[in-house]
Amino acid sequence: MSSPVRILAVANQKGGVGKTTSVVNLSASIALLGRRVLVVDLDPQGNASTGLGIDIRALERSVYDVLLHDTPIEDAVQASAVKGLFVVPANLDLAGAEIELVPMMGRETRLRKALERVATDYDYVFIDCPPSLGLLTVNALTAAQEVLVPVQCEYYALEGLAQLLRNIELVNTNLNPHLHVSTILCQMYDSRTRLSADVVAEVREHFGDKVLNAVIPRTVKIAESPSHGMPVVVLDPNGAGAQAYAAAAQEVVNGRA
Ligand code: ADP
Ligand code: MG
Repeated sequence: MSSPVRILAVANQKGGVGKTTSVVNLSASIALLGRRVLVVDLDPQGNASTGLGIDIRALERSVYDVLLHDTPIEDAVQASAVKGLFVVPANLDLAGAEIELVPMMGRETRLRKALERVATDYDYVFIDCPPSLGLLTVNALTAAQEVLVPVQCEYYALEGLAQLLRNIELVNTNLNPHLHVSTILCQMYDSRTRLSADVVAEVREHFGDKVLNAVIPRTVKIAESPSHGMPVVVLDPNGAGAQAYAAAAQEVVNGRA
């Protein structure tokens, strides 16, 4: 018997904190462990899709059609270059969705409904959220059981998190009683600075054992990997960035309750 699917929304309304990079590399790492993994790209930028080698200029169907036109999600799924890793891609069509969803029936639950169709096909679903707390992120939080929050090892790392946590609580109360923050991932760690160490210490003080032991370093290979359309864990598997993501992925897998 297979265990039920774990659905993780990767969210932080700040841009550039490493959400997409973490979705791409955690999902790839877990697929490399032999699990079946689906990435749902909910950012109109489509960076998770392109980071996994999907050409988003040539999409016949995207997550937009799933959310707005009731296209069956399995018709929008594409295989990535990594065995066992699949993607529901996004492109700029999705930019209008925040507004187009407003008058729709069940506007907060459309992704959850869509994912119910494929829940038994995957062990893990990672949802890459846009940098906002609008209806797309609400759809992600309504569909997920867990939230994984990447935190950038920078000044003001925790600023804005209170707002995210409030929204998670609201969704938890009103739409999705299963939702909880399960995982915090410290991203873009710079071992040369005192600041990074201070931020990690502060994050651990705040969030305790939700914070993964693995910390993702800032590396050139991670920064370059999107231009190759490949996760760094595939492109440079022995590098520091890949090793850190592999360790983080193992912790996520071990954390299955
Ligand atoms: P978000 O999805 O939160 O906006 P991204 O994952 O797109 O953030 O990361 C923002 C930018 O930083 C991207 O250009 C990405 O390639 C780069 N980046 C992310 N993590 C790292 C890292 N650990 N080391 C170097 N560059 C990184
Ligand atoms: Mg992103």
